This record gives sequence, C-alpha cells and structure tokens, in this order.
Amino acid sequence: MRVLLLNPPGERVYIRDYLCSKTTKSNYLFHPIDLVVMSGTVAAEHQVQVLDCMAESLSIEAANARIDAFAPDAIVSLVGAVSWPEDKHFLSTQAARGRRIAAIGDVLHEHSEKRLAEEPWLELALHDFSNADVVRWLARDLEALEEATVRRADGSIERVKRGAKRGSFRVPTPRHELFPSHGYHFSFARREPFATLLTDYGCPYPCTFCVIGTLGFKTRSVEDALAEVDHVRSLVLRELFFLDQTFGVVKKRALELCRGLEERGDLSWTAFTRPDTADDELLAAMKRAGCHTVILGVESADDARLAAYKKGYSVDAVRDGFRRVKRHGLRTVGTFIVGLPEEDAASLRRTLELAVELDLDFLSLNMAVPRFGTAFRRQAIELGLCDEDDLVMDQGGADAFLPTKHLERAEMLQLKKEMVRRFYLRPGYLMRRLRGAANPGELARQAREGLSLLRRNL
Ligand code: SF4
Repeated sequence: MRVLLLNPPGERVYIRDYLCSKTTKSNYLFHPIDLVVMSGTVAAEHQVQVLDCMAESLSIEAANARIDAFAPDAIVSLVGAVSWPEDKHFLSTQAARGRRIAAIGDVLHEHSEKRLAEEPWLELALHDFSNADVVRWLARDLEALEEATVRRADGSIERVKRGAKRGSFRVPTPRHELFPSHGYHFSFARREPFATLLTDYGCPYPCTFCVIGTLGFKTRSVEDALAEVDHVRSLVLRELFFLDQTFGVVKKRALELCRGLEERGDLSWTAFTRPDTADDELLAAMKRAGCHTVILGVESADDARLAAYKKGYSVDAVRDGFRRVKRHGLRTVGTFIVGLPEEDAASLRRTLELAVELDLDFLSLNMAVPRFGTAFRRQAIELGLCDEDDLVMDQGGADAFLPTKHLERAEMLQLKKEMVRRFYLRPGYLMRRLRGAANPGELARQAREGLSLLRRNL
C-alpha cells in the first residue's frame, strides 16, 4: 500500500506531537516524533512518504498537489487541539478523495468514541505510536489492535484498550531520511540539521497537568536505540535531540546508552531530564557522551504548588539539580508552567526570581492548559475555568487559555510576556549568550530564535 505520514498544513506554525499541540514559542520546530517512530513501523511493510507541511511551509493547495502526486491509499496524520478546525477540514477533503484516514493527537486522546462519531471521515484514532496498531489497521486486522479507537465496517465504533503500559517495546529503525532535510529548527542545537529520536515512551511520574504521565512507561533496548543512532550517523547527522521525557529515569540503561554514544565519539546532543534524576554519575556520563544541554522541569517556585501537582521534588531539590548540571559544564534550560489556578502577580514574580537565581541559560514558560486525559483538566472543569467541550487550545504562550483564580486571561498573558522580556533582555545575560555560541551558525540561530521569541512577547 502507499501510505502517507502527514503533518497537515495550517495558518500558523503548529507543533503537534506526543499527544500535545501548540504554536511554536519562538521559531523552533523539531521532527514530529509520532511520525518519526511510525516511519519505521509502516515502511517495514508498505511504501511510505512523509509530508511535513509545517517544516516545508506548504499551503493547503501545495499540500493537496503533493498528496495527489503520491496518491496514497491511506493517510496517517497528526492532529492537534491547537489546529483542530483546520485539521478536520483538510483531512475530510482527503477522505472525500477515497483515502483511508487514521490520526493521532491530543484532541483524540479523550472521549475518542465521541470524536469519531462526530467526524465520519476518521477511521482510526491511534492512542500509542510505539506499537504496531497502525500496520494492523492498514491490514484491516482490527481484532489485533491494542490501543486505538476504530470505526468498523458496520459503522460501529470501539475504544480498544489492551496494550501494555509498562515494559519494553521494539520498533523497526525509524526512517529519518524520509523527513525533509531542512525546515526544522531547534533553539538548543549546536549544529543544524539535527535528528530527533526517542528511546523510551511515556513517563513513570504522575504530574497532574501532563499528558505524558498518563501514557505508561516503556523502554527500547539500548541496542535498538544505538542502531537508530548509527542509522542517523549514516545520514551524516551528528546533532541529536533525545525527546525521552526524563533521560536517565532507568539509570543503568541510560549509562549503557551513554557508553554507546561516547564510543561513537562524534555526537552532540540535548535531552530532557529531572533535577532529582540528574545525579553526578549520570551527568558525567551524559557529558562524556556529547550532551551539551539539559532541559529540566522546574514548574514552580512554590513547594506547596509542586506538591499539589505531584511533581515529586521541592524547590531546594531543583536548586541542587541545577548546581550539579552546571558543575558538569552543561547548559541549562528551565521549564516552568505558568497560569495554574493559584497564579497571581506575586507568584509570577517569584518564578522570575527563581529563574534568575538558577542562572538559567534558557527559560521556557509553558502556559497551563487543561490537556486531554489529565487530572488537571478535570480540576479546571470543576473550578469552572474551562468547559468539557473546549477542544481548541494552545500551550505555546501565544494566548492564555485559562484565567486563574486571581488573574483574567489578558492580564495573565501580559504578565507572562513581561517575564520573558525581563529574563532575556538583561544585559549580562545577552553578553553571556554572545560569548557562549560555539560557532557563527549557532550565534545566528540563537539571534533568530531570540528575536522571534521577543516579537511574540511584546
Ligand atoms: S516528569 Fe515531566 S514528562 Fe513526566 S509526568 Fe512530569 S511533567 Fe510529564
């Protein structure tokens, strides 16, 4: 079969992946990891093309022309709450051309039977991209599906839930060469182009605002992960972004992976981890293996809030974690969630003070949104801050989706924009960025990303 893996066109630059969606916060766009992982699975049995309309900045007309030229039998598409009206319009026109449509995305993660009933063009909602459900559906082997919502030939709709949430998983090596070689940008990459990889799936932590913690947690073997790294190296790519949500959560495995990366000796990479996971042994191994930047969740400057949202660490543990990362000579990115129901002007001020105290290399502010399938969504509905039927939302910070108990949406948005400006426009900080760039290309990329971020936060 001819199968198209699609990131659909849109009016803005959308990041739709890993059951989340948002507009880009600055200019960054990395490879949609769902499609990267499924590219190996589908290409093992079918003729596959990837069309990433975001990376290629394709209009609807250009996207339609490219799809018609390939004439796929089936389309496996990303969708997102951030772009749902556009996505469903585009995909319904493709279904009208006789193509079978499967989709994956946050907006289909909850009440998926209702979504399929509302959208007759949609045959399948995937809920896990690490298994083989996509090829089972292509083969019409619906009895073998593990984690999906499917429309059967008789029109009935069923939510299948029998996939393992723990343990390990295997996928055929993802086909990175099918993705556009240009059009992806990543603020922390020291070189471009880069590749985006996943060596585990989900997250074992229970943070109540995060959808990834609802997915379970599965790992790939180190051998498989290194085979993918070698495939990427064969494409002459040496800069990597590991999208694992907590690198090192299984420490023995992470150390083994780092040893393999170190042996290759030519890699440069970024990863997410947690302040309480990043101990000295792990950080030293990451550094030796070529890691240059670590993205760590901070979320809040308030211990009570960290406890309420089940982060599992304190602000002091965050301080210790950042000190350790810096001692190992790694750059730090601190991510914070702002706009939770308790947020007020004073708590935002404390957040900014902590970001400055931690001496972050980069600050990333994520707007609280009631992501589908999370405990926080239920809380926000109960508090009357949002409605069960609210399907369109953006956590990229272009808008404030939720008011807080103390701040209206417009006020919240203005305060968040002010925080971004006050953090990034410090003269000492700007000098450090100028001096810290490893090469002129990196400096140019950071200037481009920085300007783009500031434009969005004026
Ligand atoms: S540790 Fe990170 S990825 Fe895991 S549940 Fe918490 S916020 Fe989500």
